[in-house]
Amino acid sequence: MSRLFSVFVAFVASFLLIGSAQAEVKVLTSIKPLQLIAAAVQDGVAIPEVLLPPGASPHNYALRPSDVRKVQSVDLLYWIGPDMEGFLPRVLNGRTLPSVAVQDLPGMHLRRFAEDSHSHAEEADEHDHDHRPGTLDAHLWLSPVNARVIADKMAADLSAVDPANAERYQSNAKAFDERLDALDQRLKKRLASVEGKPYFVFHEAFDYFEEAYGLKHAGVFSVAAEVQPGAQHVAAMRKRLQEVGKTCVFSEPPLRPRLAETLVAGLPVKLAELDALGGYTPATAQGYEQVLEKLGNDLAGCLESL
Ligand SMILES: [Zn+2]
Repeated sequence: MSRLFSVFVAFVASFLLIGSAQAEVKVLTSIKPLQLIAAAVQDGVAIPEVLLPPGASPHNYALRPSDVRKVQSVDLLYWIGPDMEGFLPRVLNGRTLPSVAVQDLPGMHLRRFAEDSHSHAEEADEHDHDHRPGTLDAHLWLSPVNARVIADKMAADLSAVDPANAERYQSNAKAFDERLDALDQRLKKRLASVEGKPYFVFHEAFDYFEEAYGLKHAGVFSVAAEVQPGAQHVAAMRKRLQEVGKTCVFSEPPLRPRLAETLVAGLPVKLAELDALGGYTPATAQGYEQVLEKLGNDLAGCLESL
């Protein structure tokens, strides 16, 4: 009987434990890089969730009913803003708890697409966010300066909602800040060797990163992954590549545009990938740095191998 009683006590206790685990602050972010910044701030307390599955594009994602429930129930929600996740504002209307569009945070360094930016308006691409000259470049998470601003905001919000762990959030944000300083130094060193080497991208997603590390793409080949662009457009892109000579053309995983191979056939050009979202990066405290470091290594690696 007493044994039965102790089983019962253990049973009740396990419920209480689950109950207390559920009481932790639930953080949801739209995209992986924001989840990784939140993971750095919440390190040792909880693991934040992310809406977009790996490989999904924030530009044309369709929310599932379970996503909508999550959006409406989590304590804190972070997203880039209407220029990136066009699918979110509609569901956010039904949310009563706080949500933060990080593009609006004070201290954020924002860029606009340049007037001379190559060929964005010429061809429709698969993104439903805008790349037209003069519009906001919403790929703002690739600036370490912005990552700091976002982490500080998350630490402040979490401390307000969960004061018991406030000290932890603040010290995590400070540690993140210090690790970013070290990463900054590593990336500057790594990328100095390829400064001025020309390369091309299929998606103009890297301007913040390039600005931070003194890089500049030679051009953008704006083509949809599924659509075969006109012969004239392909000829113009090949002409650019011929002019430049040895170079790298970067696509973004998971999809390489179908014309990529045709575009570079017979030219001293390498195809490689740059992953702006790091969709498969585990949600650990160091995840954000891993995404940036991988970008730097992939970029430098291809250019050094030419
Ligand atoms: Zn884009």
